[in-house]
Amino acid sequence: MSFEQLQTAFALSSRLIESKTFHDLNLALINILMEIDSIDDVSSYEILGKRSTDSTQAEPLIRKFPLSLDENFKDEYQSAVRYLYREGSAGVERHIIDGVPFICIYVNKDEPPEKLVLIKGEVSDFEYEIIKGLASIYEHQINLFDVKERDLLTKLHNRQTFVTTLEQVIDFYRNNPQSELSSFLAILDIDHFKQINDKFGHMQGDEVLIHFSNLMRKSFRHTDFLFRFGGEEFVAIVNQTNELAAIALLDSFRLRVQEFSFPSGNITVSIGMTELNPNTPIPTMIEVADEALYSAKRNGRNRIETMKRTTKQTFDSDIELF
Ligand code: GH3
Ligand code: MG
Ligand code: MG
Repeated sequence: MSFEQLQTAFALSSRLIESKTFHDLNLALINILMEIDSIDDVSSYEILGKRSTDSTQAEPLIRKFPLSLDENFKDEYQSAVRYLYREGSAGVERHIIDGVPFICIYVNKDEPPEKLVLIKGEVSDFEYEIIKGLASIYEHQINLFDVKERDLLTKLHNRQTFVTTLEQVIDFYRNNPQSELSSFLAILDIDHFKQINDKFGHMQGDEVLIHFSNLMRKSFRHTDFLFRFGGEEFVAIVNQTNELAAIALLDSFRLRVQEFSFPSGNITVSIGMTELNPNTPIPTMIEVADEALYSAKRNGRNRIETMKRTTKQTFDSDIELF
């Protein structure tokens, strides 16, 4: 390897290592790869599960980067994604799929989502080695971000990741102004949770939080985003739907919680919801959803309240809240 080649390899590695979020990491990897002349296209996906339980029929449920929010999202590489998913791809591999040469970076995870980067084009051996090096950094960074961006107890995304995700959702609507559907922000707060801790202890309280987050995973769709905001407060971004359908989804979750046998007995949840508006500042949207939640608490708990942004003055603060 020449001195220049060595320099290139280090420069590219540090561009990946400098990324502070999973979002930045993906962006950096795509940009680096697209700078290689022989590469025609780069697509990055998260594989969130599969549609059918029959493995021969498995249709992977994918989210494309930058964000796709459609439940039935498919793109021109769907058959390549399906092929790699069914073959059980791992690490960096060269494939010819439907006559097209690809290099694939497949990061398998114990828990979904798995990550897949599809690189279209034929590269030299040197470029292939560079890609293998980048892929290994990419995988390590993903493992680090899993620790940084997820809540340790419930494995849901944490509060820090919420704003980056919400910004991406808002970007989606800015880039798709013709979209007839929208997204909704819901804050979910367990009712009288303090009593559970007081009665059964903190450990049992934690167990309830784990059951609650598992119920969230089962109740929402793979295109929705779920977060633990802190304590016994959770957030859901319900994507690409209308208000009635969002309320129906949240209400079926509310009922599921009410009917579930938690180790500490029955619990209920109150939910505040507001529609996302790309022109409203994020702190204001959170404030409105929070107001809706407090209204649900005031009105007797175990219910959903929705609220729209009012003309009410919102605070201007220089303090970063997240
Ligand atoms: P409300 O119906 O008004 O929401 O009442 P609440 O008791 O749920 O609300 P409150 O905010 O008074 O109490 C929340 C409690 O959540 C207080 C704290 O002890 C508990 N808590 C916060 N984080 C954790 C955690 O990580 N684990 C456990 N076990 N408890 C937690
Ligand atoms: Mg509570
Ligand atoms: Mg609370």
